[in-house]
Amino acid sequence: LVSKLPNVGTTIFTVMSKLATETGAINLSQGFPGFDCSPELVSLVEHYMRKGFNQYAPMTGVPALREALAQKTFTQYNVVYDPDTEITVTSGATEAIFAAITAVIRPNQTAGPDEVIVFEPAYDSYVPAIELNGGIPVFVTLTPPDYTIDWQVVREKITDRTRMILVNTPHNPTGHVWTADDMNQLADLVRDRDIWIVSDEVYEHILFDGRTHHSLMTHPVLQERTFIIGSFGKTFHITGWKIGYCLAPRELSAEFRKIHQYLTFSTVTPIQYALADYLKEPDHFRQLPDFYQRKRDLFLAGLAGSRFKIKPAEGSFFQTVSYADITDEPDYELAIRLTNEIGVASIPVSVFYNQKNDYKILRFCFAKDDAVLQEAAERLSKL
Ligand code: PMP
Ligand code: GLN
Repeated sequence: LVSKLPNVGTTIFTVMSKLATETGAINLSQGFPGFDCSPELVSLVEHYMRKGFNQYAPMTGVPALREALAQKTFTQYNVVYDPDTEITVTSGATEAIFAAITAVIRPNQTAGPDEVIVFEPAYDSYVPAIELNGGIPVFVTLTPPDYTIDWQVVREKITDRTRMILVNTPHNPTGHVWTADDMNQLADLVRDRDIWIVSDEVYEHILFDGRTHHSLMTHPVLQERTFIIGSFGKTFHITGWKIGYCLAPRELSAEFRKIHQYLTFSTVTPIQYALADYLKEPDHFRQLPDFYQRKRDLFLAGLAGSRFKIKPAEGSFFQTVSYADITDEPDYELAIRLTNEIGVASIPVSVFYNQKNDYKILRFCFAKDDAVLQEAAERLSKL
């Protein structure tokens, strides 16, 4: 069989988590909470399962959850999405990202395939999704330690074939967060063009040091052309439930739903009912910034005496560190060695770049119990 993705192997998340399990290492690689979700949420799911909500949900998501999402979005961002025509529940953000890209990107236009601007380092599902749809990723490279966007570079990369721009704030893997100015710059670039946007905002509730999340839906020029992607996995510590959503204006949602209905058709029913109830209590996500900032700071305090160079993450539950003062090894080899030798697994950030580079950055997930973070920091400080 001729591969449709010849350059794709097993994802780094699987590779590193497997190695961590085999070696008994502390796993700060793949991003998932090391603690459980709320027992109340589990009870709600059980309740709906026992009540017999166990068959297919409506294709677009159960009405109660779409309505709860519309309410949450209005309360938080003061933007109205119609639950019937503009909100779709998906099997995780990964499905939503794939469906949005598939809805927009075309392989064979007269001028050539559609182009998609991708900021790298980029979450690993974006580029395969573009390529499987016959599109061409066009990279804008962000560099440590700040990972800020040079908008002049973005401007230069836009051509008549640019059909989409992929945004991710707060950003995985760097923890970088967009400012209002970033949003305005993007709006100026796309204002009079047929360019659509996928905005991956799965870490919308995890921002630090008083920062606010600038959702692209809050800028009218952006809102009308953007698929906003969210995930309950990050917000409620339920990454294993794989449930997310897409908010987009009616016309975009209609095309999105055509893809969604043949990718998965619908998403796990009892969990949707449970989340609809659980979302009614906003405290469940309002406490997240403090909760994760404390963990970030605990991890950073543990690394204070180490030889890593660190700029505190602005958002997400990832902390990147530079090991340039410690060793010359490539990041992939170092991540493997640290897992084997000191028992701490991380993610080498070069895997999120298309361009080969030697920035010497590792990513650690700090969504873990305090004692685990302290032990990991202690081991890393001996390097
Ligand atoms: N986007 C980003 C930036 C992520 O970090 C992740 C998962 N960690 C996803 C999308 C996928 O989310 P889900 O598990 O809901 O598919
Ligand atoms: N998003 C998670 C991370 O960045 C992993 C998701 C996955 O394993 N596919 O680590």
